[in-house]
Amino acid sequence: LPQEFTAALPILETITNAGFEAYFVGGSVRDMLLGKAIHDVDIATSAYPSEIKALFNKTVDTGIEHGTVMILDHGNGYETTTFRTETGYTDFRRPDSVSFVRDLAEDLKRRDFTINALAMRANGEIVDLFNGLEDLDKHIIRAVGDPVERFHEDALRMMRALRFSAQLGFVIEAATNEAIKGEAHLLVNIAVERINVELSKLLLGKAVAEGLMAFAQSGLYKYVPNIDMGRELDIVAAGLKLQGQILPDDATAWTYLIDQLGLSEDDAGSFLKAWKHSNDFIKQVKTAYHFIQLYRQQVTITKWELYQVGAALPIALAVLGLNFKSFDGDKYLTAYHSLVITNKRQLAIDGQQLIAAGVVKPGPKMGKILAKIEHAVVIGQLKNHLSDLLAYAEMLQSKGE
Ligand code: ATP
Ligand code: MG
Repeated sequence: LPQEFTAALPILETITNAGFEAYFVGGSVRDMLLGKAIHDVDIATSAYPSEIKALFNKTVDTGIEHGTVMILDHGNGYETTTFRTETGYTDFRRPDSVSFVRDLAEDLKRRDFTINALAMRANGEIVDLFNGLEDLDKHIIRAVGDPVERFHEDALRMMRALRFSAQLGFVIEAATNEAIKGEAHLLVNIAVERINVELSKLLLGKAVAEGLMAFAQSGLYKYVPNIDMGRELDIVAAGLKLQGQILPDDATAWTYLIDQLGLSEDDAGSFLKAWKHSNDFIKQVKTAYHFIQLYRQQVTITKWELYQVGAALPIALAVLGLNFKSFDGDKYLTAYHSLVITNKRQLAIDGQQLIAAGVVKPGPKMGKILAKIEHAVVIGQLKNHLSDLLAYAEMLQSKGE
């Protein structure tokens, strides 16, 4: 067993010694069987949350109403969830009620895909009620039970199918795939944040090309924010262009998507906002996208433009590299790294010093002078030495600029 599991064995033992059942479940079991790195080890148990809390000193109620308690042990946290069934999905996204049960089979039945419905005992034995092992072996994503019913219960599962398919390079089984096409419209019921998580994981998948094409061809793309009907071919093209390649990080992935959709810079901002990205993320992507637009419009890239794009340069270069076969990104990186300063804080002078030297008084004027100094230093017109900067500031002041 991988170390992540052996470290958690004492927890399973504590639960089973108290007369309950406990298993490793979900992604960690799947990833171990695939020989992949494991992140979170999740535990499923017949013990009720109150019974778990009575057994361990340190627990946190992370989702106690759904039966989840986090057990803290040697600096690790283990999400431990009571076996449960879910009933009544009137809103296509979450059960009207969950009930705790003592039977593992009931719990595995409510899980999304066969490869995610495997459980493992402390001795390494796998419980496989839905042929998940065979699907793992054959690289198949298959809904547990009737796919149409399962997507009606929770429409996010359709995006999850595409996401796992892209991450693992698995094929979506025919009936599951048909159900996605038929029920795609149900995705409108799902919170944007949750769709975002799945689309972001899809974009970083090793089979992103196929994932994007499936996103287009399934029709799911029509039921997400700010992508209009009729963009199917653009998204297919985005996939085709990526064949055999991967996107390195979220910012590059979303910049790539925006670029493929051909959004204006303003629309790019509203697009990312509609998708509920953070303001920092939006700023980073917009900065990279601005640089890409300059390049596309064949604007000469000056030192000032490189300074402006700043830390977002690698994102812009990665996206340009995907678009233009003979694009030389290193040229821009080298130029960027030879800038005298890459940040305002690296100026040999600041507002305090300007005031102390008696050149300016605090106020808007000072900001303007500093901005001019910054520009002159970046474009190499002025040395970044205190005496030069002071002299320059005095000159600007005397000319009333
Ligand atoms: P990852 O490696 O991305 O975390 P994961 O399989 O662990 O993948 P999670 O979203 O962490 O995915 O969920 C853990 C487990 O909970 C899944 O393996 C699955 O069994 C179950 N699960 C999660 N979301 C759903 C859902 N929407 N419907 C049904 N079962 C789900
Ligand atoms: Mg997980």
